[in-house]
Amino acid sequence: MAGTLILGGGQGGYQVAASLREAGYAEPVLIVGNEPVLPYQRPPLSKAYLLGDTTAERLQLRPQSYYDKHEIGLIVGETVTGIDRPARRVTLASGQTLAYDHLVLATGARNRTLPVHGAEADGVLYLRTLAEADAIKERFHAAQSIVVAGAGFIGLELAAVASKLGKQVTVLEALGRCMSRAVSMPVSSFFAEAHAAWGVQLLFEARLASIDSAGGRVTGVTTADGRRIPADLVLVGIGILPETGLAQAAGLALDNGIAVDAQLLTSDPAISAIGDCASFPDAATGARLRLESVQNAVDQGRYVAQRIVGKSDGGYAAVPWFWSDQRDLKLQMVGLTGGCDRTVVRGDPATRAFSVFCFKGDRLLGIESINRGADHMFGRRLIGAGQSLTPEEAADLSFDFKARLASLPRAAAG
Ligand code: FAD
Repeated sequence: MAGTLILGGGQGGYQVAASLREAGYAEPVLIVGNEPVLPYQRPPLSKAYLLGDTTAERLQLRPQSYYDKHEIGLIVGETVTGIDRPARRVTLASGQTLAYDHLVLATGARNRTLPVHGAEADGVLYLRTLAEADAIKERFHAAQSIVVAGAGFIGLELAAVASKLGKQVTVLEALGRCMSRAVSMPVSSFFAEAHAAWGVQLLFEARLASIDSAGGRVTGVTTADGRRIPADLVLVGIGILPETGLAQAAGLALDNGIAVDAQLLTSDPAISAIGDCASFPDAATGARLRLESVQNAVDQGRYVAQRIVGKSDGGYAAVPWFWSDQRDLKLQMVGLTGGCDRTVVRGDPATRAFSVFCFKGDRLLGIESINRGADHMFGRRLIGAGQSLTPEEAADLSFDFKARLASLPRAAAG
């Protein structure tokens, strides 16, 4: 074929293809993905889909007719097993080979697995794919008591759904607070209290030491300090690892993921990498980042498409943002708040609607909003325009965000 070949039919892979066609790219475009379904959104898997509020069909990013209409080739249920860089060809598990002019690696990530005794017991489940969500759903309803390993986003979203469905839920977290890699202390504390109020038992600094089972089926877990917690289902959300196997075998540079430059090109200029599998230089600081979010996969997919058609100006520089839904709480984050040394809370957490403005010195790093979408949108536009505000302005409830946005240069204010 040649043209652009995209490995991975997830959020990022789909986006490259769609954006190429939107940009008028007339060469062949082909996506190869190893899941046996059309590209779909993962976020609802731990939220509405698990609750039974949406269907697998509604998770699809587009129906088959979209790919047909836009002449986007799509091979699903096929694993790519190798990349021959000198020949610009990939090999599929079926033995078929496919040529490319440009290759995009959008291979995502895989679950980090529990390295403990008994982890292979029936009833220890992970969540990354639709198939895994279906496996959880099948067991979920009959389960009475559930242990969730990990109090990150996925673990807490699972705990939120399970508690809503009336299950007895215990969350084990090895660190001292929840979502600690991504949110500030006030937001961690707020969510810990919210889960406690929903009846979730959150245990911090609790390391899972082994899975207990009888007849091959999980019966509970034991923590490193000897606590035994009964469970008929153990859901594991202890993070993901970038899917770098193909890139590594092909000799591409790796650095906490497939290493790309500011143009999202790997160490081979005929190959780009995007999304969860790729680490890229932060436009603001130069630090290497690997983000696990829809925004990152979508914006990087768009950028690579623009670059392929020769329309990108400058390097990739999108503002990171993310969300998580836990029962009535919508958490939205913009910017990267790690390294923050000062927080300003705007609004009253008791009303379940407030934002935490995170600063390093006087520089705004990001905003974490709970049920305050307007603050989030303000932050996206402000930070996107390369602007800041002071801690005093953030704390001042009479400070007019709209007026600040109106004062930004028009293009910068988005
Ligand atoms: P993926 O969407 O994972 O796609 C990669 C695809 O490549 C997969 O289908 C994989 O099977 C395939 N693949 C890998 N290797 C090969 C190979 N050798 N051959 C063929 N195919 C291959 N983000 C948010 O911003 N907000 C949320 O609320 C949120 N919730 C989430 C909830 C869940 C349960 C999960 C799992 C993720 C959530 N995310 C959320 C994260 C978000 O979904 C990911 O960051 C996003 O999907 C990354 O897109 P991607 O294209 O990089 O990878």
